[in-house]
Amino acid sequence: MKRTIYQIFVYVTLAMSVSCFTGFIYEMSVAEMNVWAILCLVLAILGLVGFVLNQILYRQFKQRDATRYEQVECPHCHEMNSKKDVFCKKCGKNLY
Ligand SMILES: [Zn+2]
Repeated sequence: MKRTIYQIFVYVTLAMSVSCFTGFIYEMSVAEMNVWAILCLVLAILGLVGFVLNQILYRQFKQRDATRYEQVECPHCHEMNSKKDVFCKKCGKNLY
């Protein structure tokens, strides 16, 4: 998952939660419990759930990416290379 997508999702879910909670409080202050108030509350909870899920998923993706792109230092020139590389990208010598 790209970081920008993650950030957009964070803002969208948070904005959705906040605006829906505000809507819920407003509905409750002007009227008794009604359909709109319940709808706002449900959307607010959905936004929060989406926000939490997004964070959990992002952390897992990041961990997976970290292991995939784990780096190894070249013993000859100390350049950082991807672990899947066999030869150093800077000096071209064997990494292992
Ligand atoms: Zn090197």
